[in-house]
Amino acid sequence: MSLNLGVLSIQGDVLENILSLKSALDALDIDGTVTSVKTPDELSKIDGLIIPGGESTTIGQLSMVNGLLKILKEKIEQGMPVLGICAGMILLSKTVQDKVVGKINQPLLNILDIKLERNSFGRQRESFESNISLNSIGIPSFNGIFIRAPSISDVGSNVEILSKFNEKIIAVKKNNVIGVAFHPELTSDISLHKYFVNLTNTLKN
Ligand code: GLN
Repeated sequence: MSLNLGVLSIQGDVLENILSLKSALDALDIDGTVTSVKTPDELSKIDGLIIPGGESTTIGQLSMVNGLLKILKEKIEQGMPVLGICAGMILLSKTVQDKVVGKINQPLLNILDIKLERNSFGRQRESFESNISLNSIGIPSFNGIFIRAPSISDVGSNVEILSKFNEKIIAVKKNNVIGVAFHPELTSDISLHKYFVNLTNTLKN
């Protein structure tokens, strides 16, 4: 049966993730489609979704307009695999603070029991790349691209820490939900996208 993968297409790194997912399907020789998701109807046909990096406040607010955010929360709670990248991980989280301005009020999915710090490594000009590892999911070496990246200051029970950088938590997983602070879609390495496609395939069957 064909796998229906989606990328939330409100704002941010949409196209890059669509291309990476298509490459991952090809590399794994899995029959599937990748579509952009903007409406509850489009979301209803999806087996696994990437929430891309971008601007979390914008993505959250615009996703509320047509009721997408509410349906998205329901689908994830029912077990749909989701990969939240940077702003996407911010949206998935329960508690958010900004390193510079402190408490902020923004729409959140409130799904991943993590305490998150926005702009944890500084502003845009402090963006950087560094080698990181995600050993527990079979990715020992990966080029992490951090752009106004968040980090996780605390995790709730059963949230698995997948990676740390400079003592800060930068990737987590709980069952069907993965969050990463860096941008895998901006590298040519599709190993994390492949991991997500495999996870979606396994949980679907
Ligand atoms: N700092 C951004 C936010 O808070 C996220 C940056 C990103 O996705 N690259 O939404």
